[in-house]
Amino acid sequence: MVKDGYVKYRAIHTPAGATESPLWAQLNEARTRLHDLGLVGEYPGGPGYGNVSVRLGENDFLISGTATGEKRVLTINEYSWVSSFDIEKNTVTTKGPVQASSESMTHGAVYRAFPGAVSVLHIHSRKIFDGMLRDGYPSTPAGAAYGTPEIALAISDCVARLGKPSGVIVMAGHDEGVIAWGPGIDKALDLVLELCTKYKLDAKN
Ligand SMILES: [Zn+2]
Repeated sequence: MVKDGYVKYRAIHTPAGATESPLWAQLNEARTRLHDLGLVGEYPGGPGYGNVSVRLGENDFLISGTATGEKRVLTINEYSWVSSFDIEKNTVTTKGPVQASSESMTHGAVYRAFPGAVSVLHIHSRKIFDGMLRDGYPSTPAGAAYGTPEIALAISDCVARLGKPSGVIVMAGHDEGVIAWGPGIDKALDLVLELCTKYKLDAKN
């Protein structure tokens, strides 16, 4: 398995207090739901996987922090504000009590590609990942390595090409990785839950 937790872009982080958002509580509830399904969590002895975000402005968003995967319920102090990001320059600028998820660029790529995207959920699941690849869902190239500008651009292209306010993508080059986005947190979560039903994920994956 390819594990999360390795930042390949240049992270410019400034320690600061938590950034509030009226949508945070809903985002955090969605994350807890995903954690209960095993779609966010921690590999045995390894780093965490899965992360959630909500858009704040045109080019910024709030995202769960790095190394938080194992916790079932997070507080606002375990989220970070991605104040800006630049795929081409491979930089992510963040502010908050914790460092942002190492997959912040992946989330940013979706927000950049589609202005209507309000929430991005990134999950890991063997069953859903294998099923989506088998069934020909939109996919990033298998050769695009995790955490690189190439995969961020591939995600951006994929989302822009689909041009839909909500959708799901399987990250072929990022084992077990799936992205869902929507015009609201509830819609993005619904899409993930639909995948759970379709691929018969009824317990921890
Ligand atoms: Zn991942």
